[in-house]
Amino acid sequence: MSPDRRTLLRAGFGFTAAFASGAHMNIPAQANSNEGPQFRSALSHDEAVRAAVADDFGRIIRKQPRAVLEPAESDDIASLMRWAAERGLKVAARGQGHSTYGRSLTDGVVVDMREFNRIGEIETDRVVVEAGATWQSVLDATLARGLTPPVLTNYLGLSVGGTIAIGGIGGTSSRCGMQADHVLELSVVTSDGRELTCSAAENSDLFDAVRAGLGQCGIITRASLRLVRAPERVRRYQLFYRGLASLTADQRRMLAARRFDQLQGAVLPDGNGGWRYQLDGATFYNRDATPDESTALAGLSDDRSKAVITDLTYREDALAFAKFENLLRSKGQWSIPQPWLFTFLRGSNAEQVAREIIELSNADIGPFGRITYYPMQTDAFRAPLIQLPGESIVFSFNVVRIPSDTDAASIARMVAANRALHDRIRKAGGVLYPVSAFPMSPDDWREHFGPRWPLLRDARRRYDPHNLLTPGYNLFPDQA
Ligand SMILES: Cc1cc2nc3c(=O)[nH]c(=O)nc-3n(C[C@H](O)[C@H](O)[C@H](O)COP(=O)(O)OP(=O)(O)OC[C@H]3O[C@@H](n4cnc5c(N)ncnc54)[C@H](O)[C@@H]3O)c2cc1C
Repeated sequence: MSPDRRTLLRAGFGFTAAFASGAHMNIPAQANSNEGPQFRSALSHDEAVRAAVADDFGRIIRKQPRAVLEPAESDDIASLMRWAAERGLKVAARGQGHSTYGRSLTDGVVVDMREFNRIGEIETDRVVVEAGATWQSVLDATLARGLTPPVLTNYLGLSVGGTIAIGGIGGTSSRCGMQADHVLELSVVTSDGRELTCSAAENSDLFDAVRAGLGQCGIITRASLRLVRAPERVRRYQLFYRGLASLTADQRRMLAARRFDQLQGAVLPDGNGGWRYQLDGATFYNRDATPDESTALAGLSDDRSKAVITDLTYREDALAFAKFENLLRSKGQWSIPQPWLFTFLRGSNAEQVAREIIELSNADIGPFGRITYYPMQTDAFRAPLIQLPGESIVFSFNVVRIPSDTDAASIARMVAANRALHDRIRKAGGVLYPVSAFPMSPDDWREHFGPRWPLLRDARRRYDPHNLLTPGYNLFPDQA
């Protein structure tokens, strides 16, 4: 075991010795190929295995790797890094493959983290998990102790490593920031084959470069995640509005009053060429303190006759996205190209910019698509590489296209439209959430990270001197 990994364990973050050593696992003694370093786990050159990780949820970019590593231990990832560095092969981690523009793809080696997903002992305020664990498995394990991560993504089928690498937004982000803001400590394998522990107190440059750092400085192997007491139940309010102005005004009112624990919203096609404007709010409660509905909704200007109020357990509510997933799957809309655009708008002009873009948007959204639109307080966002407009309130603004036309020309047109919308949003002071489907140049990324660019660039030089990691973003292309 590397000294750094021991530090993570010594710090009391919850793995038992047997768990940490992998003693309970049955792992082949070495790689199943004669090309590759000696691993305890499988490095596969099999065509079907490589083809299975040659695209992602977006189904727009395709790149087949030369090999796929399914690590059993982080030492295997470290060995792979040294081996790849000697050969100049690119390496990319893959969590659940839910990027939409080839960000986890490479023609080198993909590290498939799906089975690297163990969950350590749960303490009252934290849990250590392997980075391939999904948020659903983390939630299931922590809820058994009455605990939860403070921020969950709307969709829980994403991996811990995959969302920490980009940020990770959910219903509580309006008040609590991103998942990357609630990480206490990380284990990271860097491209020179070291496994380092990092936190605010130790290797803080790496900690800052890895959270929302787009996988450019290392592969996250373990994360110590902050936990809070989970509420028992959730009262959810779906409120409907005549237009964007009244929706925005009530969202702002609710954010300022801190009346909802979760605050989101969306603009959805109404099926007749128009839009429905929806606020999603939720209050958490325990059985001994049922929320007072009239207080929660007092002073709002929604069409109350249309309000949908539901009462769910916390787990049922956290898994609500599964209904949407099932709907899309049943309509054949889950496994089609998904050219999504995710951004943040400045609070001061969000309504105006959103209105212009909503007016431009049309059939490309598709009958099942949506534009999500909701405010967040920026003081809770702390990880330095999370990029947001510099105002105290910003709006998450995501064009979730689930297109009816999926031929190559239509998808290419939508990818180009994403680029144009991004440029328009940037001109208006907005910022990209980097899970979007369109190409970015190294200059675009430099502009995206702005004053934080040197932090990422310098960490990259330190921790990936061979320029191996995560080429799918095109942040640091090889010099000619
Ligand atoms: C249906 C759906 C719902 C979504 N909902 C949300 C949401 O509610 N909130 C939100 O914030 N985002 C959401 N997203 C976007 C999603 O968070 C990102 O695409 C995320 O990166 C996907 O996680 P993943 O595990 O699939 O990662 P992958 O797509 O596998 O990887 C994403 C990137 O992270 C890198 N990476 C993966 N694992 C590691 C690791 N261990 N160490 C270092 N780098 C790593 C990869 O190389 C790649 O560059 C959603 C996407 C989809 C398709």
